[in-house]
Amino acid sequence: MLTKVDLNSFESKLLDRRVQIDKNLRGTALELDEMRDLELNDEGDFAAASAETIVDSAILIQQRKELNEIELALDKIKRGSFGICEMCEEPIGRARLEVKNFARFCITCREISEKESK
Ligand SMILES: [Zn+2]
Repeated sequence: MLTKVDLNSFESKLLDRRVQIDKNLRGTALELDEMRDLELNDEGDFAAASAETIVDSAILIQQRKELNEIELALDKIKRGSFGICEMCEEPIGRARLEVKNFARFCITCREISEKESK
């Protein structure tokens, strides 16, 4: 089981990550505004800018998703269910949590759910 010290360390990692993503999302929003200005000035740049916008928005969607997962994980820390697999209710391995702080399933359940979704 995870100790209080472990939980605190995961919580601060999650909070750091949330700050980072917040910053990224805000930065991207600013860039998109700048692109909209560009768009009015130069048609050639606009084509290049749109391609970048598509890549940016894929990243944006990915980061929003991650932000969601982080919120869920922080909530779980509060409720004391952090690090417990949502499917089998067994503890998720610490090594896995280190790699993916907001993991919701243990390795076994993750593999099962990936197989089922294919
Ligand atoms: Zn499980």
